[in-house]
Amino acid sequence: MATDRRGAARRALALLAAPLLFLSACSSQPVQTAFAGAAMGTTWNVKIIAPGELGEREQQAGEAIRDALDDVNSKMSTYVADSELSRFNAHRSSKPFPVSAETMAVFVEAKRIGELTGGAFDITVGPLVNAWGFGPADRREDLDQAAIDELKSHTGWDKLVINEGEGTLVKLDPELYCDLSAIAKGYAVDRVSAALTELGFPDHMVEVGGEVYANGHNVEGRPWRIGIEKPDAVSGMQRVVGLDGLAMATSGDYRNYFERDGKRFSHEIDPVTGRPVEHRTASVSVLEPTCAAADALATGLIVMGEDRGYERAVELEIAAQFLVREGDGFVEKTTPAFDRAAGPLQ
Ligand code: ADP
Ligand code: MG
Repeated sequence: MATDRRGAARRALALLAAPLLFLSACSSQPVQTAFAGAAMGTTWNVKIIAPGELGEREQQAGEAIRDALDDVNSKMSTYVADSELSRFNAHRSSKPFPVSAETMAVFVEAKRIGELTGGAFDITVGPLVNAWGFGPADRREDLDQAAIDELKSHTGWDKLVINEGEGTLVKLDPELYCDLSAIAKGYAVDRVSAALTELGFPDHMVEVGGEVYANGHNVEGRPWRIGIEKPDAVSGMQRVVGLDGLAMATSGDYRNYFERDGKRFSHEIDPVTGRPVEHRTASVSVLEPTCAAADALATGLIVMGEDRGYERAVELEIAAQFLVREGDGFVEKTTPAFDRAAGPLQ
C-alpha cells in the first residue's frame, strides 16, 4: 500500500527460509512449493510445505492466495478508487455507511490498537498522510502550521463511530478520511494464512510487503526463520527470529521518506502534531499471533518512539524490537516479551 508504490516493497525482511528445494518425489520427503506475485501495490511471497508435490492442488492454493489478496485490496485500499474504503472516504455525510464483515473486523482491530497505543495508531490521519505526500496522489506540499491545523481538525478517533452490531461506520465529521495502509497488509497476510490452513496446508510462510506470518515447519523440518534487516537497508541482518504460529511486522522510516534541507520526513504521522515523526527510532518490529495486530502495533509504537513506545510495549508485554539511530549505527532495544518470543540472539 502506501510505501510500496515507491517500489521498495520487500523492505524490512529478507527471508532466510531454505532455498527453493524441490526434493525428489519420494513421498516421505517434505516438498516446498513457492508462490509469488504483486498485489496491493507491493510484492508477496508464499511457501507451502506438504508431504509431496502439490499436483493439481497447486492451482487451487494459488487461486486461494490471489482471491484473499484481491478481496482485501478491493475492500481496504485507498489506492483503489472504488474500494469499499474509498467509497466510505468519498461519502461526505454522517449517514451510517454499511461495510463488509471483513472491513468491519479491520476497523475494530484498528480501534483496539489505537487504544493500546494511546492514540498514536490512528487511521483517521489519512488527510495528513495525503497532504505530506504519502498517499495515493503524487503530491508533496509544503505544509505550514495553518494548513496542518486545518487538516488536523478533521482527524481523530472521536470523529468515527464503529457500529459493529449494525455493520456500519459513521463519520461525525463528513470530512473524515480513513487510511488502513498500516494494518491492511498484515490483515491480508492473516487472510492468506487462514485460506491455506483451510485448504489443509498448515505448514506455510506468508509475506506481503515485508509483513510476515509463519506456521509449522520449513522444508528442512525446522521452524521458519526470518531475518530483521538493519535499517540502513544495505548492511544485512540485525537479527534472525524463529516464527511458529507467529507474525512479524516492521515499521521503519528508512524505506518510505523524503529529505528536505537535510531533514528526513517519515511516512509515519504523529496524530498529535500532524507532522511526520521526528525521533531517532529507525524501525520497530513486533511479534504477535496475528499479522494485523503486529502491523498496526509496529506503526503505533514507532510513532510513540523509543522512550514512550518502548515503555508502553514493556507495560503491555508486547514483543517489540526498537532499532534506534546512534552515531553512524543503531542501538537495539528489545522488550522482555520479544526476547522470550524471538529466541536467543544469533
Ligand atoms: P509500511 O506501509 O511500510 O508497512 P506502516 O505499516 O508503518 O509501514 O504503515 C505506514 C502507513 O500508514 C503510512 O504510509 C500511512 O499511510 C499510514 N500512517 C501514517 N501514520 C499513521 C498513524 N499514526 N496511524 C495509522 N496509520 C498511519
Ligand atoms: Mg504497520
